[in-house]
Amino acid sequence: MTSHASRVLVLNSGSSSVKYQLLDMTDGTRLALGLVERIGEETSRLSHTPLVSGGAKREHEGPIADHEAALKAVATELAADGLGLDSPELAAIGHRVVHGGLKFTVPTVIDDAVLAEIERLVPVAPLHNPANITGIRTAQALRPDLPQVAVFDTAFHTTMPEYAARYAIDVATADAHRIRRYGFHGTSHAYVSRQTAALLGKDPAETNVIVLHLGNGASASAVAGGRCMDTSMGLTPLEGLVMGTRSGDIDPAVTFHLKRVAGMSADEIDVLLNKKSGLLGLCGDNDMREIRRRIEEGDERAQLAFDIYIHRLKKYIGAYTAVLGHVDAVAFTAGVGENAAPVREAAIAGLEELGLAVDAGLNAVRSDAPRLISPEYSRVAVAVVPTDEELEIAQQTYALVNA
Ligand code: AMP
Repeated sequence: MTSHASRVLVLNSGSSSVKYQLLDMTDGTRLALGLVERIGEETSRLSHTPLVSGGAKREHEGPIADHEAALKAVATELAADGLGLDSPELAAIGHRVVHGGLKFTVPTVIDDAVLAEIERLVPVAPLHNPANITGIRTAQALRPDLPQVAVFDTAFHTTMPEYAARYAIDVATADAHRIRRYGFHGTSHAYVSRQTAALLGKDPAETNVIVLHLGNGASASAVAGGRCMDTSMGLTPLEGLVMGTRSGDIDPAVTFHLKRVAGMSADEIDVLLNKKSGLLGLCGDNDMREIRRRIEEGDERAQLAFDIYIHRLKKYIGAYTAVLGHVDAVAFTAGVGENAAPVREAAIAGLEELGLAVDAGLNAVRSDAPRLISPEYSRVAVAVVPTDEELEIAQQTYALVNA
């Protein structure tokens, strides 16, 4: 590889969207970022923001038939900024891949065998892996000569102890169908737990952190010295915390009940629990900003949804305190965790016995920087640590192709 190839394109391909960022890894600078939405519809939308030489955001609406057309449109936008994908400065393309099963514990250069294995995992990630595979194939067709790297959402959690990863069900049945707790958002949990240690001025290998990744999807993890000991998502991203549209933990018998008594099909139950539940199902809104606005106006449904969300969060903070034994910090991250001070305040309220407290003044400060929001006397630090999955994917990709 030529020594000046220092750029990495990060692709996050969803079923009808592609998010991307182009970074320069000499210093981690972002050169451009954007999003293609509603791929395959008449009203597809591309928004592209060049971050070099003062370029302004550009938006285009109009049909984009498939992922290939989407990536070609992205390539055209990048080329217009002098950042074309044919540039010799592009070192690699890093792909977010949601499910890596047990096999992929580290970022991996993609070849036919790797792609076949990602495909083999489709039954355990039917919503995510097919889109990731399409993204990879499209990028390969565009730049067949370039290393393409898969960075797995599950990788960080593969070090979970067996007792945390197994469900207490018949072992033969579980193994035959690869049913176990894989966990997701791993790139974020890895990044945020390391950044939290840095914020405390400690070695990550000697720091125990509870990471609360609260976005539209949400998950918690218990990280001891850089190793994931438990995480709240399981076989799929449905388990655990109350999310924007997902129920999180429920009695599995609810699903039999819905089938037997309500006559719903497996697919209908899947849609109910993944897309129509959580905050949305509880109060009709999944955006925490809107829920807080309604609460300010005295809306009781919004208040109850908020209380259920917080109650679940508290249960996980307590559980992971017990799992870790000693906790150095609780770190809030992602859209809700980074922005919603009332969520942080409510989640920590009453947990003084666990050594946790939030300083109201510090909690109210808005900032993009990692910061502490606990008072001096707090035994356990409470932190807000912005996540950066794209930077983490780019760093892992770049490190791998330069190894
Ligand atoms: P993410 O999935 O990490 O992009 O997070 C998206 C979610 O973050 C949105 O659905 C909102 O609920 C939440 N969010 C973003 N900004 C704010 C804010 N200023 N206050 C409260 N919640 C926010």
